[in-house]
Amino acid sequence: MAQKSLLERILDWLYPNRCGVCHRFCDDAICQDCKNNWSLIVPPYCLWCGRPFDPRSKASPLCGMCLQGRYKFDYARSVVIYEGVGRETVHAFKFNRKPRLAQPMGELMAEVMKRALDRDNGLLPSPRQLPSMLVPVPLHPKTQRFRGYNQAALLAEVIGQILDIPVETKILVQSRPMKPQATLGERERWENVKGAFEVAKPELVRGQIVVVVDDVMTTGATLNECAKALKRAGARQVYCLTFARTISI
Ligand SMILES: [Zn+2]
Ligand SMILES: [Zn+2]
Repeated sequence: MAQKSLLERILDWLYPNRCGVCHRFCDDAICQDCKNNWSLIVPPYCLWCGRPFDPRSKASPLCGMCLQGRYKFDYARSVVIYEGVGRETVHAFKFNRKPRLAQPMGELMAEVMKRALDRDNGLLPSPRQLPSMLVPVPLHPKTQRFRGYNQAALLAEVIGQILDIPVETKILVQSRPMKPQATLGERERWENVKGAFEVAKPELVRGQIVVVVDDVMTTGATLNECAKALKRAGARQVYCLTFARTISI
C-alpha cells in the first residue's frame, strides 16, 4: 500500500473512521459488535411475504394476511427484524447520512436473495430463473434532493454487483408526493400509496422477473403498490427484498 501523505494522516486523525451505528472507532462502515446484534430472520416465516412466525405457534406455510391473498408480489424476503441495532442501522443509513452502510446491509440482502432463489421458496416455478433486474423503490424527487441519495438504490447497487443483476433506477417512478408512511397508521398507509407509482418504461418490464428493493417492509403496502404497477406493465413475476422487516407482536 502506498504510504499516506501528511495531509491524509492529518485527515485520518481529524476524521477517524467510526462505526456508522455506535460511533466506535472502526475501519468498516459498521463494527462487528453492531452486526452481531442484528436479529436475523430465520425460519419459520410465511412462505409468501416472509413475515416471521412465532416459533411456538403451529406451523402454517402462510400468514393470516397472505391467506387473504392481499399481496400482488410473488414473494417477499427480509434480512433482519426492525428492532434494536437493526433499526438503528436503518436510521443511521437513512437519516444520519451514512450511505456507506449500504455495503454491509446489501451484502446480507444478496445472501438472502440467493437463498430464496436457490431453495427456500415453495412458490417459485421451476426451473428457477434469475431475475432480470433489480428496481429500487423510488423516492419523490424532492425527498431525494433533501437526503442526497435514495437509500433503496444504494442497496440495490450492492446486491446487483454481488449477484450480477442489472439495477434499473428509471423504470419505476413515484408519480405524486406521498406522506411519509412512518407517520401513518396501518389503514392510512394502504390509502397513502394507492396509485403513487408508475412504470416509465413498460417495454423494459414486459415478461421479465423483477425484484423490488427497499430498506424496510412494514405493512407491505408500498411494495405491494410497486408490484401492482410492475405487473400492470407486464412483469411476469415480482419479488421483494428489504433489509428490515417490522413484526407485530
Ligand atoms: Zn458499532
Ligand atoms: Zn404472509
